Amino acid sequence: MEDCNIKELRQLCYRQSKVPGEFMLQLRCAGNYMDSKWLEMVQHVCQTWGDGNFHIGTRLTFDIPGIKAKYVPEVNAYIEPFLYEMECNMCGVEMDTSKGYPYIGPRNVVACIGGIHCIKANINTQEMAHKIEKLIYPNPYHVKIGIGGCPNDCVKAQFQDIGIVGVTRPVYDASRCIACGACVKKCQKVATGVLEMNDQGTIDKDTCCCVGCGECVGICPTGAWSRQEQVFYKIYIGGRSGKQFPRMGKMFANWLSEEAVLQIIANWPAFSEWALEGKAEYLHGGHLIDRAGYQRFKEFMLDGVELNEEALIADNVYWAEQEYRSNIHLKPLDKHMNVK
Ligand code: SF4
Ligand code: SF4
Ligand code: SF4
Repeated sequence: MEDCNIKELRQLCYRQSKVPGEFMLQLRCAGNYMDSKWLEMVQHVCQTWGDGNFHIGTRLTFDIPGIKAKYVPEVNAYIEPFLYEMECNMCGVEMDTSKGYPYIGPRNVVACIGGIHCIKANINTQEMAHKIEKLIYPNPYHVKIGIGGCPNDCVKAQFQDIGIVGVTRPVYDASRCIACGACVKKCQKVATGVLEMNDQGTIDKDTCCCVGCGECVGICPTGAWSRQEQVFYKIYIGGRSGKQFPRMGKMFANWLSEEAVLQIIANWPAFSEWALEGKAEYLHGGHLIDRAGYQRFKEFMLDGVELNEEALIADNVYWAEQEYRSNIHLKPLDKHMNVK
C-alpha cells in the first residue's frame, strides 16, 4: 500500500475506507440544492478515480468512495469549479479552492427544501444555509447545523448540534373573521391547539404555546390570519444520536430575528476554540456545550448579539434523557446490574 497520511486526508474531506489505501471524498453543498449539471462532474469523478458509485451522504453530501490517495491532487484539481461555485459564489466563503477542501471541520449545513418548493415554509432555508456556511467554514471545528423551514422539522433540527427552524407570528384581524372555526380545528389537529372561539365569535390565542407553524394562516378562508412580513427563528442546541447519551436538542432561543441568529452562529467558532483549548478534536458540538456548561455557552453565544424585542432565550436547559444507557425499555428494572 502506498504511503499516505490518513489523518491529513480526513481533514481534507477524504474519509478512510475499509479497503486499505482507498478514500471517500465528501462533497459539501450548503442547503443541498444545486444545478443538476453538477451530476456530470460527480459521475466523472466516480468513473475516473472512484469505484463507479456514489452515496448520498447522511448529511446530504455527495460521497464518492474508492479513490486512491495518489489521485487526490488530480481529483482536487478537477472538482475546483464545483468548490468555487458552492463555497465562494453561492455562499460567499473566502477560501482557496485550488487544492480541495482545507478542512472537514463543520459538517455540511443541511436544510429542507423550504421556500423553494414547500407550501409550509416560513423561511428561505437555502439562503439561510448559505449565510451560515459563510460564518462557519472553513475552520477546523466540528459542528452539525440543520435548518428547517417550519416546525414540521423535516430536517431533524432537533437532532443537530445547532438546529434552526423558521417560524411565523400570525397576526389576527377580527374584522375579517367569519367565525368558521377552521383555524381552531386545524391548530388542534396538527399543531398545539392554542386557538379557541370565544363568546363574541372571535378567536382567542394562548400565545405562549403557539409553535409558529402558520397552519392557521394557511387554512383561513378570509385572510383574517396573516403572516407578518418579518420572519422569525427558533434554535435548538445539543441534539445528537450516537454512542454517548443520544438526546433531542433543547430549545435555546425562540422568536429570533435573522440578524440575531446569524450573530449567534458567528460566535460558534470562538466558542469551539475556547472549549477545545484550540485543539480541533472530533467532538459533537453538544459535548462542547456539556463541557462548558449551559451558562458559559450562553455567555459566549450571546456575546455582542443584538436581540430583537420578541426574542426569548432559555434561562437554563435540562438534559433529561438517560434511557439509552440504562436500556430501560429493554430490560425489567430488576435485571439491571446496578438496580437492587
Ligand atoms: S420542514 Fe416545513 S418547510 Fe421544510 S420541507 Fe418540512 S414541511 Fe416543508
Ligand atoms: S401558528 Fe400554528 S400553533 Fe400557532 S396558532 Fe397558528 S396553527 Fe396554532
Ligand atoms: S379560519 Fe379565519 S375566518 Fe375562520 S374562524 Fe379562523 S380566523 Fe376566523
